[in-house]
Amino acid sequence: PFRQRLLVVANRLPVSAVRRGEDSWSLEISAGGLVTALLGVKEFETRWIGWAGVNVPDEIGQKALTKALAEKWCIPVFLDEEIVHQYYNGYCNNILWPLFHYLGLPQEDRLATTRSFQSQFAAYKKANQMFADVVNMHYEEGDVVWCHDYHLMYLPECLKNHNNNMKVGWFLHTPFPSSEIHRTLPSRSELLRSVLAADLVGFHTYDYARHFVSACTRILGIEGTPEGVEDQGRLTRVAASLWFFNCLRHQFPIGIDSLRFQNALLVPQVQEHIKELKERFSGRKVMLGVDRLDMIKGIPQKILAFEKFLEENPNWRDKVVLLQIAVPTRTDVPEYQKLTSQVHEIVGRINGRFGSLTAVPIHHLDRSLDFHALCALYAVTDVALVTSLRDGMNLVSYEFVACQEAKKGVLILSEFAGAAQSLGAGAILVNPWNITEVAASIAQALNMSAEEREKRHQHNFHHVTKHTAQEWAEMFVSELNDTVVEAQLRT
Ligand code: UDP
Repeated sequence: PFRQRLLVVANRLPVSAVRRGEDSWSLEISAGGLVTALLGVKEFETRWIGWAGVNVPDEIGQKALTKALAEKWCIPVFLDEEIVHQYYNGYCNNILWPLFHYLGLPQEDRLATTRSFQSQFAAYKKANQMFADVVNMHYEEGDVVWCHDYHLMYLPECLKNHNNNMKVGWFLHTPFPSSEIHRTLPSRSELLRSVLAADLVGFHTYDYARHFVSACTRILGIEGTPEGVEDQGRLTRVAASLWFFNCLRHQFPIGIDSLRFQNALLVPQVQEHIKELKERFSGRKVMLGVDRLDMIKGIPQKILAFEKFLEENPNWRDKVVLLQIAVPTRTDVPEYQKLTSQVHEIVGRINGRFGSLTAVPIHHLDRSLDFHALCALYAVTDVALVTSLRDGMNLVSYEFVACQEAKKGVLILSEFAGAAQSLGAGAILVNPWNITEVAASIAQALNMSAEEREKRHQHNFHHVTKHTAQEWAEMFVSELNDTVVEAQLRT
């Protein structure tokens, strides 16, 4: 049967590549959320286009890598070190990421960034054009092109400039901030306009979509409609129009492949591991945090709230343990190094204060876990603690719920995570800045009756198992196809 081709363009390809020789590479699939989402979508023939995460300056290496990747349906975009530095480390991670998560720049970086802004934005546009060139080279008529995330906001425009008939969708995996934040960005208008070149623009939650529309109306002065944004001045090229999810009809948060998690719990080694963990922590309730060690995750706030809880509840001190998995990320950035030592200092202080010769209240790990170890941890957890200061969605909260059919543990969830919109009714929602409130929520969660836990869990479990990543991907692409058809009918 005919399957429509789907070109998925994201900054990183879903593989990690290691060079073994002049013309040989070994590849490993890294199964992030997007990959598992699209693996499950059988109705499209998917191709991946993106950066392989390595610098390959020589032609022999590039040819060999291209060939190896082709077997995994991946097509590389080669970015040199200077571009990566300016586009990826600079504009994406140092400007857009903190801005979209409402984090200001570190004080000492502020002026330096202001000065290098233009060159970084130029590199961003150049890099986006390089992605576009690769898409154009591989595009066939009828293909759907799906661009992902804040790295590629300039891509829809590059693609449409080249071929106005291309079906182009763009999805943002982070929050889109209030227009009051977005308007401080020197390149605010150019970025909005280039995103608007897409046929369909998608966000996780209604709030992010609403922020985007008001940024367009306030900054560009164009019209917001219930269906999206009408750009009067650009009627011809917006013949394909621009639509996006209307809140009332569609809200499109990503989900997870919940069955993958439920099935993992049945694997004998995982069962064995669960048994070990239960013995290890018997007599204590297990609280769990799983985050990249990023400013947006609110890890210091979480640990301080836990300290306050221990302070106020002496009877719990030897009956509860907090396991915090902090996956290292962007470790060469000073701001992240500072966060690491800050967290270590707080953890050390609390363990010194409340620990005994045989037990400490916080186990803090600076490392990642493999999939099975993570599933086992989710399964033995009594209370999961997600305190993101801002978070596009937060898949950890979904994964925890998927692994809790036996235990029916409690999820404490930041109201600033996108997931609060979908799991809000089952979770205890908190403002992570309010340490008193979080500490009280910990007490509430630990003391919660079995009936209430069951009720809350069922609510979340239903959501997580029903609204999967596959459903999300299918809906986006079918909406994109419909949008283009409707636009053609109107002209
Ligand atoms: N994760 C992992 N190994 C770990 C810890 C986390 O593979 O040791 C995964 C986790 O399963 C989840 C992802 O990392 O799918 C984190 O996604 P989330 O949306 O919560 O946050 P992000 O890191 O994308 O900001």
